[in-house]
Amino acid sequence: MTDTAFENYTTLMTELYSKLKQFGHVKYNEPLSKHTSFKLGGPADFFAIIDTKESFIQAVRFLEEEGIDYMLLGQGTNVVASDDGFRGVIIQMRDTAYHVDGVTIRAAAGCATVEIAHASAKAGLTGFAWGVGVPGTIGGAVRGNAGAMGGEMKDVVVSIEVLRDGGVMNLSNAACVFGYRDSIFKRNHDCILEATLQLTPAADAQGMKEVLNHLAYRNKTQPQGWSSSGCIFKNVLLDDPSLLSVKNIEIPVVFQEKKVIPAGWLVEQAGLKGAQIGGAKVSEKHGNFIVNTGGASATDVFSLIEMIQETVYTQYGITLEEEIQRIE
Ligand SMILES: Cc1cc2nc3c(=O)[nH]c(=O)nc-3n(C[C@H](O)[C@H](O)[C@H](O)COP(=O)(O)OP(=O)(O)OC[C@H]3O[C@@H](n4cnc5c(N)ncnc54)[C@H](O)[C@@H]3O)c2cc1C
Repeated sequence: MTDTAFENYTTLMTELYSKLKQFGHVKYNEPLSKHTSFKLGGPADFFAIIDTKESFIQAVRFLEEEGIDYMLLGQGTNVVASDDGFRGVIIQMRDTAYHVDGVTIRAAAGCATVEIAHASAKAGLTGFAWGVGVPGTIGGAVRGNAGAMGGEMKDVVVSIEVLRDGGVMNLSNAACVFGYRDSIFKRNHDCILEATLQLTPAADAQGMKEVLNHLAYRNKTQPQGWSSSGCIFKNVLLDDPSLLSVKNIEIPVVFQEKKVIPAGWLVEQAGLKGAQIGGAKVSEKHGNFIVNTGGASATDVFSLIEMIQETVYTQYGITLEEEIQRIE
């Protein structure tokens, strides 16, 4: 870069920094490893933490008007951020307001899913206890139609408030087009602002008992104490009958009945539990978790993902699709 180009670049960055500061707390050249559950990823040019829905809306409108690249981040529990980081602005929505009214809960996108699950049980409601097993925010959970233990966001969402093309609007459950770990928000640029959930009154302390059961199950089946992004791959849905006769493997009846092959089971059958590249390792406890053993790079994780996909495809002819979102 010439001296003049460098000066112009510095001026632009300084201007952008002071403009972003109108909306919230802004960090420059911020390592994404500090904001992701995998604890890896290079720097974002800017990292803006925004506490209120109104400021968040203004910030997104500003970035769109200026044509500046940005990406939303919840709690970073479903992402793998590249070692090069992100050129542009990462926006973290930290509005954590929620309101319980009868069987309805309105929660801002920045609310922790776990907190809303606890609040629902405390309010004597059932239907969202599974949320205690899902780290991250309500915004991230809606986008990915997060779910656990047979429950999914699509079962409880009444409507979602979004910012679309600068305007605020409400979408019905049907308009969100939820599918398995999927929604319309994976294919558009809507910013999720708030979710309205409808639950069911629980008998006695049923909601609390469900919360405790979910936590116990999660501790038994998932690796504890490791940095990860949860499940790396989507489970394989058996909606295509040809998958019942995949090569070299017999699909257990229980999976045939549930019409789903757990990706972790395929990884285990392929002999990949414990496989390691650099600091990234397939968990010994759960084949669909890659854990950071300390000092893993995103490149290690991406290489391990590729190796798993190639092995599973070569052995069984099944393509494992990523559940995590890449930040690159
Ligand atoms: C230990 C562990 C266990 C897990 N178990 C489960 C599980 O049982 N079930 C499950 O479904 N998931 C699970 N996950 C994955 C993760 O918890 C969920 O996907 C979660 O809902 C992600 O929320 P987040 O706020 O961290 O999203 P992030 O990881 O921050 O973001 C994920 C995506 O959502 C987008 N996004 C975030 N906020 C918004 C918004 N307001 N508007 C629009 N887009 C937005 C981001 O741009 C990104 O593309 C697990 C993860 C970990 C680490």
